[in-house]
Amino acid sequence: MHHFHYRDGELYCENVPVDRIARKVGTPFYCYSHATLEHHYRVFDAAFAGFSHIVCFAVKANANLAILRLFARLGGGADIVSGGELYRALQAGVDPRKIVYSGVGKNSEEIRFALKSGILLFNLESSQELGEINRIAGRLGVKAPVALRINPDIDPQTHPYISTGLKKNKFGIDIEQAVQDYRHAQELPHLEVKGAACHIGSQITELDPFIDALKRLKSLIKRLEKEGIRIQYLDLGGGLGIRYDQEEPPHPSEYGEALIKELKGLKCTLILEPGRVLVGNAGILVTRVLYTKEGEAKHFIIADAGMNDLARPSLYGSYHALRPVKERPRPEVKASLVGPICESGDFLAKDRKMPAFQPGELVAVMSAGAYGFSMSSNYNARPRVAEIMVKDGDFYVIRKRETYRQLTWGERLPDFLKGA
Ligand SMILES: *Cc1c(COP(=O)(O)O)cnc(C)c1O
Repeated sequence: MHHFHYRDGELYCENVPVDRIARKVGTPFYCYSHATLEHHYRVFDAAFAGFSHIVCFAVKANANLAILRLFARLGGGADIVSGGELYRALQAGVDPRKIVYSGVGKNSEEIRFALKSGILLFNLESSQELGEINRIAGRLGVKAPVALRINPDIDPQTHPYISTGLKKNKFGIDIEQAVQDYRHAQELPHLEVKGAACHIGSQITELDPFIDALKRLKSLIKRLEKEGIRIQYLDLGGGLGIRYDQEEPPHPSEYGEALIKELKGLKCTLILEPGRVLVGNAGILVTRVLYTKEGEAKHFIIADAGMNDLARPSLYGSYHALRPVKERPRPEVKASLVGPICESGDFLAKDRKMPAFQPGELVAVMSAGAYGFSMSSNYNARPRVAEIMVKDGDFYVIRKRETYRQLTWGERLPDFLKGA
């Protein structure tokens, strides 16, 4: 469900015509619907109403402060994977007692920052990390609350770049190794063992992989209990998929119901780390067509947004639906929607049927709210685009378009290159 819809042939976000935003802020820009974000959060949260839980939004999916603040206001926490994301979450007003920190490569500065901030949980991903966090916590005179991130060796049947719970992936601690690492963690004086975590991948459209992972964690928790290690927090990660094209992912309520059923008898607080499912369909990327180019072997529609603005199609071959901002009768063509970047891999849609978009018109690249802006870069020295939040009949610039001056911020000429 989302609030992007046509009224008299014109695309609206809630009660604002997308064209009006483009006239005000220029193109390209990301546009998020407040009502959609709020609805997605509430539906997801409600799916777990029957079980003690915390919804920790995965900041990497969309790190804009306004979005982080919105979820925090609705009662959510944050799942972070870097010191920078911790900084953002705190800036946005997320309660540190609802922040969980995952990631295979936390450095000592990041660990110190998180310990000082009083976060809820570190999800540890290797035996060596146990020692490092113990050492730093000791120096600070605190106890680090930890969970071990378990690699349950589950195939989530998704794109190989976004599967994370297979033995061959770099993430987590092998489940066979886990009991040994828990014993080790238990012995370290500056760690407080609190939880178990897993995150098996992203854009998962079936329930089975989640249930299989949960089953494996459950049996691990039972084994740990026998050793006197009590798990207070069970973090099941994120990964629930959304509809980009023809996918039919389970509704969050089915996901919640299936997990809760499997959790029966367990006494712990559940942590969930949804990213994509909260923001993906709540955002679009709006781009303007600059030129079209038709040859014998090709038909290109050249837009002002490229792979630096939305990397997913180039990176994973992902599908994003394209919609005209103003509908008009026209033929469909087989074409590629490409950007201005100097790479042949720069496309938003490749060799696909699409409306014959014309120069000057606006195109909405749908389902771009997750891993859109957050993955964008300055490649080809392109300023990053503006981000807009629409609420009912108004829109707000929640991130200004970058300027050329910002592009060179922090760069310095060494003395020997100064002067003419
Ligand atoms: C990326 C990530 C998430 C969010 O994944 P989605 O597929 O966007 O829900 C959650 N937890 C961890 C540890 C992650 O790395």
